[in-house]
This record gives sequence, structure tokens and C-alpha cells, in this order.
Amino acid sequence: MAEGTAAHGWAARDASGHLSPFNFSRRVPRDGDVTIKVLFCGLCHTDLHIIKNEWGNAMYPVVPGHEIVGVATGVGPGVTKFKSGDTVGVGYFVDSCRSCESCGKGFESYCPQLVPTSGGVDLIDGAATQGGFSDVLVVSEHYAVRVPESLPPDAAAPLLCAGVTVFSPMVRFGLNAPGKHLGVVGLGGLGHLGVKFGKAFGMTVTVISTSPAKREEALDRLGADAFLVSRDPEQMKAAASTMDGIIDTVSAEHPVAPLLELLKPMGQMVVVGLPVKPLEVPPFSLVAGGKRLAGSAGGGMEDCQAMLDFAGEHGITADIEVVGMDYVNTAIQRLERNDVRYRFVVDVAGSKLGVAA
Ligand code: NAP
Ligand code: ZN
Ligand code: ZN
Repeated sequence: MAEGTAAHGWAARDASGHLSPFNFSRRVPRDGDVTIKVLFCGLCHTDLHIIKNEWGNAMYPVVPGHEIVGVATGVGPGVTKFKSGDTVGVGYFVDSCRSCESCGKGFESYCPQLVPTSGGVDLIDGAATQGGFSDVLVVSEHYAVRVPESLPPDAAAPLLCAGVTVFSPMVRFGLNAPGKHLGVVGLGGLGHLGVKFGKAFGMTVTVISTSPAKREEALDRLGADAFLVSRDPEQMKAAASTMDGIIDTVSAEHPVAPLLELLKPMGQMVVVGLPVKPLEVPPFSLVAGGKRLAGSAGGGMEDCQAMLDFAGEHGITADIEVVGMDYVNTAIQRLERNDVRYRFVVDVAGSKLGVAA
């Protein structure tokens, strides 16, 4: 059997979530595959859920990272979308069944056979998938996107997950209408991009946060119109029934009833954050105002490309702190403490990777 490409990355070996150097191999490229040299990879809160086995389905060792920007270094037969040298992005998933209703409609992220970029199982050879905290990636061109040349590759990386995760439901649920009032709950990696997309869509955007210290930068730097401290009942009460839509990006347990109160009648809240504990939703909070509560996972490949093209046109990138892989465990701890403005991005190509021979 042909040998795959040697890959060098950093992996978690157990639920401590501690990452350390790891050598493995990428699959032999199949027809339609692109080989990518990883340049930068963002650290998403989902990586923390995965490496610490908070969702109970981790397979160790696991190389995290699914906000990947790299350069195509090889294209196999059948590849039409990319050529060597192109800047390529890969997000939360690297394959799906390609034949179910969701795949057919461009909603690949809802495919029952979705293969996450990291911690998934390859549909053909059954191997565990490993993420972007590694030097090389092999992926079908269908699950890669073009990154506009106008975007810097490091600050564009978080768009591949955080960006599309907020952009897709905004477009799909009509929360992109100029003049409408959008609430963004949780000013982290996802949330700060929600603010930027909301403003680019011409919306009025209010940040709803547990961190009063983020007020000034939310208003001055990110361009939000208003800032509410969710733990201040007076502020929340004053803003009741003012919002057309809300995106909830919170990663931890939190009360949602006070958020639903912020919606106008017939308003809708889209949950994208994935805390482990169930949300408590008093039926009255929904029923009384005819409100809707929905969820959304990432975005399909079409949405992802549309999001990147929109970001390219409007100059939207993430606010990032670029770090070397040798800092990644500290970055993980800081992300857990809500101590980053607003996304860590690992300089993968500039880091020492893998176990020395
Ligand atoms: P993040 O950068 O850590 O941001 C989460 C934000 O939530 C924090 O910045 C904080 O904002 C707020 N928060 C944290 N703890 C809180 C608490 N106890 N109560 C209330 N608010 C709290 O995380 P992220 O990378 O944006 O990801 C957010 C969540 O979305 C994670 O659960 C992640 O797994 C999930 N996710 C889902 C998808 C999807 O497809 N649906 C995709 C990517 C990520 P403030 O300081 O402003 O309160
Ligand atoms: Zn993510
Ligand atoms: Zn499918």
C-alpha cells in the first residue's frame, strides 16, 4: 500500500487537553484531493470542548484546529477549483456523504455522516481525522474554499469556523436586514465576528456580555451600537422587546429566559454556542411573544465561500493574537479564562512541530 504524507503536529492524548508534539501520516491523495501546507490555524472554543472530552466523544490522540488557512502545494487529478500556490481555507468539516438531502441543498453541516476536520472518522478508510495544528492537510477540494487575496491569512483563519458560524444563520434566518436590531450574546471569537458582520449588513448591533471591561472596545473598536451587561437586570429590563434577532454564542451554562425577553414579539434567537448543560427555556418566554428559538451549526460550503467573499469585499477579519505552537497550552488556558481579544491564531508554519526524529 502506498505511504501517506508524513505530518507533524500537536495532539491531546487525554482529557487534560494538554497538547504535545505528535507525528502521524496524512492519507494518500485521492482523486479530487488538494494537499495543503498549513500556514495559520485559529483556536476555537470547540477545540477546548473536544480535547477535554466535554462532549464525551473524543478519540485520542487528537490534533485540534479547524480554522485553517494554508497554501495548496499539490492538486491531484480531478481538481478544478485550485492550483498549486492558491490560498486555501478549511473549516470545521472535511467530508460528508454528498448524497443526502442536506448535502444536496448545500447544508453539508447537517449531514448525518459529517466528518469533522479533527476527531472525525474518514468515510473511506476509517482513519481518525486530525486537524490544522499540523504542517500538512489532505482534503477533497469540495471541502476547501478560496481565501480572497485581500485578506491577511492569519486574521482570516478564524473566519473558517467562527465567521461562517455566525454569518450562515444571519443570512439563513434573515438576521442580515439593514436597519434591523441584532443582539450578539458573548463577545468572544464568534461574537466579535457577529458584531462585524451585523454592522456590515447595516444592522443596529447590541452586544450582551458578562464582561463590563469589554464595553469600550465593543463600541469603539468593533463598532457596536450598544452594550448590555447581561448580569445587570436593570440594563436588561430597559432593553426589553427591542431586538429583532439574537445570536447566542456563549460557551458556558447561562440563563436564556432574560435573553428571550430582549426580543420583540415574533423575534427569534439562534443558539450557536454549545455548553454541555441543557438550556432552561420557560415556555412562557417563547409563547407569550410568539418567539422562535433555533440552532445552527457552522455553515455549508456555499455559505462558507459566500462569507469569505463578503469578508473580502468588506475587509472583515478577526481581531487576533498570533502565537507560536509552543504557547498553545497557555493559549488554551487563557481562552478558558475568557482572556483573549478575540481569537488566538497559531502560526503553524512558523512553529516547531512534531516529535524530533
Ligand atoms: P469564546 O471565544 O470563548 O467566546 C465565548 C464567550 O461567551 C466569551 O467570550 C464570553 O463573552 C461568553 N461567556 C463565557 N463564559 C460565560 C458564562 N459563564 N456566562 C455567560 N457568558 C459567558 O468561544 P467561541 O470560540 O466564540 O465559541 C463559543 C461557543 O460556540 C462554544 O461553545 C463553541 O463550541 C461553540 N461553537 C459552535 C459552533 C457551531 O457550529 N454552532 C461553531 C463554533 C463554535 P462575554 O465576556 O462577552 O460574556
Ligand atoms: Zn470552531
Ligand atoms: Zn450528506
